[in-house]
Amino acid sequence: MDNTLLFDARARVLADLQARQQATAPAVSALEDAVSQRKWWAEQWPEGAQYVAGLVAQDVQDALFETVGRWPLCLDCGDRAPVHALYIQPDLGGPDPVWVCEETGDVVAPLGGL
Ligand SMILES: [Zn+2]
Repeated sequence: MDNTLLFDARARVLADLQARQQATAPAVSALEDAVSQRKWWAEQWPEGAQYVAGLVAQDVQDALFETVGRWPLCLDCGDRAPVHALYIQPDLGGPDPVWVCEETGDVVAPLGGL
């Protein structure tokens, strides 16, 4: 397992948390947990490395949903739709994970690019 991939995954998810002012202590701790769990997972299944970044983002999304709510919210739709979230595409977590609007299905940004 290449640790660079994990550092990259962590950095990209952290950047997107910061972009939405959600890089709180509990969120960062959820991120650390997700990275260490996915590290273990990728060590068992090295071919899974390309999915790690997107999976870490989904893990953090799930953890935040249970505590602070939906992250990241879609800002592109504005008043055209009720408040909704972005999700990771491809659903498997990779390769090349992007954030997609739940309502329109449009690609909003690459993971790490919010
Ligand atoms: Zn939207």
